[in-house]
Amino acid sequence: MKENFKLVATVAAGLEAVVGKEIRTLGFDCQVENGKVYFDGTLEAIIKTNLWLRAADRIKIIVGRFPARTFEELFQGVFALDWENYLPLGAKFPISKAKCVKSKLHNEPSVQAITKKAVVKKLQKHFHRPEGVPLQEIGSEFNIEVSILKDQATIMIDTTGDSLFKRGYRVQKGGAPIKENMAAAILSLSNWFPDKPLVDPTCGSGTFCIEAALIGMNIAPGFNRSFAFEQWSWVDKELVQKGRDDAEKEARYDAELDISGFDVDGRMIEIAKRNAEEAGLANVITFKQMRLQDFRTDKINGVIVSNPPYGERLLDDKAVDILYNEMGQTFAPLRTWSKFILTSDEDFEKKYGQKADKKRKLYNGTLKVDLYQFYGERVKRHLI
Ligand code: SAH
Repeated sequence: MKENFKLVATVAAGLEAVVGKEIRTLGFDCQVENGKVYFDGTLEAIIKTNLWLRAADRIKIIVGRFPARTFEELFQGVFALDWENYLPLGAKFPISKAKCVKSKLHNEPSVQAITKKAVVKKLQKHFHRPEGVPLQEIGSEFNIEVSILKDQATIMIDTTGDSLFKRGYRVQKGGAPIKENMAAAILSLSNWFPDKPLVDPTCGSGTFCIEAALIGMNIAPGFNRSFAFEQWSWVDKELVQKGRDDAEKEARYDAELDISGFDVDGRMIEIAKRNAEEAGLANVITFKQMRLQDFRTDKINGVIVSNPPYGERLLDDKAVDILYNEMGQTFAPLRTWSKFILTSDEDFEKKYGQKADKKRKLYNGTLKVDLYQFYGERVKRHLI
């Protein structure tokens, strides 16, 4: 089978640079594009990136790229690829996704059907199977995806399975949870380091706190779940186990962290606690039922990360206005603390009562949101 792969990490818009940095930290050079980060690597890269990337959605193998202006070109292009190096005889290989953008070919179901035919024909030829007899698909599953952008087809195999934001620890969620990979990305964009206090005063199901604890303890976000590639017959199971063992060795369970989550809703606090317990972090994070308006602290240099209710999601407009205003008043005395607040409310700064030092556009699912960033005053150590 194959030794070297062309790989792509798919990423939510706005977070490409974060994922690019993560991939480089794992030791792979990469190129960043809209929604995608490209890199090359062996099976080890597939294992490592799936286990360790905190902000990506999925890792896919690029089987090939070619121009596809007609169905004939698509068929010939797919047929020419080295499918025998990926798909063993008996494999299931649904064409699970087809996406056509700004291209002559735009009928996605037909693109799927043609791609399927071409892969089948190639495998029949390679394995010397009669053409009239369908291939039996009884083995492990390879999800093939086709993307045609401006008449260029990219043919991929998904290695991940359930999207990487599904870490496996979320037993329950509230009405408006933030995705785990988005929470991790925001922490990476913030100036939080594991030696600083972290507070999420609207913690809901606890996502920011749990992701921060995973970062602080250097725990691989994928340690609690499996991936599609693990089912593939040619994947060396020992290498996968080694990836998991190495991750276990790199974890720093004894890291001293100061992470707290509050929520006005006691049921959310119960859920947050259960999720943290599932992630193995029961005693690491402090969760408490509390109104954010009651938050006071003498600690310095902390970081607040919050994804408060937005009008369209959880509260009516008037209540949101009041909440944001009280947030501003509650956080203002915390002069050395930095605050990172994610909301879709375009008037947030006015309601909060302070202009952000920096604003960054992100997408929470399909909802456009901004990360309002307020930097704490620097405190010189000798003045403390
Ligand atoms: N990021 C969270 C979702 C936050 S939704 C997650 O991933 O699950 C916003 C949360 O703010 C809700 O859980 C809501 O109960 C809480 N909230 C609303 N008003 C609040 C207040 N005054 N003080 C504290 N929490 C509040």
